[in-house]
Amino acid sequence: MSEPCICCGNESTLLCDFVLGFQLFATLPYKQVGGDLTHWTCDAPLCATCATFAGNRFYCGSSEFAGVESVDYCPAHKDARHKDTNPIMAADAEYLRRQVWAKLRRTRMTARPPNE
Ligand SMILES: [Zn+2]
Ligand SMILES: [Zn+2]
Repeated sequence: MSEPCICCGNESTLLCDFVLGFQLFATLPYKQVGGDLTHWTCDAPLCATCATFAGNRFYCGSSEFAGVESVDYCPAHKDARHKDTNPIMAADAEYLRRQVWAKLRRTRMTARPPNE
């Protein structure tokens, strides 16, 4: 992945996994949601230093997707809770994502590491 980390500009290896919302008809609580239900995540590119590790997500079954995947959040979402997510439209998700990304980029401009 060559996208720079949205917080510090280093090479990113992770994406923010925070769920901005689910498709309108999908109103199941987060824990009942399977991996194939349509939802929108923040997707902010992050390096390992700036990402907040929030646990592992387990996929079971015999499919090629079974296994463990780490869940990581950007600084804007590290304290957020999934229960606050609501069914939203694709356009709403795009709007939320743009707001968060802009906020993260502003943080990056005001908080440079001392060796830059
Ligand atoms: Zn970073
Ligand atoms: Zn995020």
